[in-house]
Amino acid sequence: MSMDLTFLGTGSAYPSPHRGASALVLRTEGDCWLFDCGEGTQTQLMKSQLKASRITKVFITHLHGDHLFGLPGLLCTVSLNITPSPTQPPSCVDIYGPQGLRHFLRVALSLSGSQLLFPYAVHELEPTADQCPPESQLDAMLESSISESLHPQERPGRTIPLDVEGDCYTLLEDERFVVRAFRLFHRLPSFGYSVQERERPGRLNTQLLQDLGVKPGPVYGRLKNGESVTLENGQVVTPLEVLEEAIPGRKVCILGDCSALVGEGPLRVCRGADILVHEATLGDGHRERAVEHGHSTPSMAAAVARACRARKLVLYHFSQRYKPLSMRTEGEEDDDVLELKRQAEEALEGTSVEVTVADDFLTIPIPIKRPH
Ligand SMILES: [Zn+2]
Ligand SMILES: [Zn+2]
Repeated sequence: MSMDLTFLGTGSAYPSPHRGASALVLRTEGDCWLFDCGEGTQTQLMKSQLKASRITKVFITHLHGDHLFGLPGLLCTVSLNITPSPTQPPSCVDIYGPQGLRHFLRVALSLSGSQLLFPYAVHELEPTADQCPPESQLDAMLESSISESLHPQERPGRTIPLDVEGDCYTLLEDERFVVRAFRLFHRLPSFGYSVQERERPGRLNTQLLQDLGVKPGPVYGRLKNGESVTLENGQVVTPLEVLEEAIPGRKVCILGDCSALVGEGPLRVCRGADILVHEATLGDGHRERAVEHGHSTPSMAAAVARACRARKLVLYHFSQRYKPLSMRTEGEEDDDVLELKRQAEEALEGTSVEVTVADDFLTIPIPIKRPH
């Protein structure tokens, strides 16, 4: 199964002509999952190889505008481009994000008189008080004063509390993936997401099956599914004998804005990530200012990658002062994105973690893993 990650926006605070606001897409077999949706994400999507209509799930890391303001517009445009089918009702778009997201969308869509040709549901993560400074806590009064009636296309969503034991949130588990969220510290409650592909059974050793006298047919499927089979001559063939080693699942972790991790959950959930996407808003020389604004520097991102033993660290969410690689001119030392890469690499010395700095429209393939 093919899997890749495409950055649609890698800038912080606002979209600019050279860096869009935060948005990235994880694509698996044509299904697109969107992580964050800053203003202008829909035009970035149009410029990319991806199709907005393939987005089936949306994950919002936190409610700052540079991660969220593009969402109502994107949903409306997707709806405009839908051709309703008389036989198949449109499927529901699942949207995950922090508490408050449901109201934001409801109000934005309702006040603008926006109707969608598909249903959507917002599943909210309940933050804890230690995820942001006290003055940024969502005001309970404000929340309760907002309408409780659903938008016409809104389906009731889940409210997902922190699983205290695992120190994480389990968003979905199906036959292919387990998706979890974990807590981060920022000026507003922020979350990271982990997409863990399930381990898949290894290939059948067809030569061995032939030698054993097992003919191709449904019996192959049963063995692959872990069932033992009895041949006509009474001989029992077990999956262990004929299956090659299982193929480990891939793990992609995408962290929202943060200056620190909260609790044990983040490192536990991100352990061994194939790709860890972490913000690096400012260079190490501006660490104090970065932290004051709830952000990280390359060496802070590197420390997370090192601690969870990630294979690849991808930096994004750069201050707009850092021009993309393609616009780089020699001598602009302070604003050089390669300097950010160097800082992360220096902090990762002695490890095999590979560092990438993301630019808009960078696609990173995530190849199938080899058995252990
Ligand atoms: Zn941001
Ligand atoms: Zn933010």
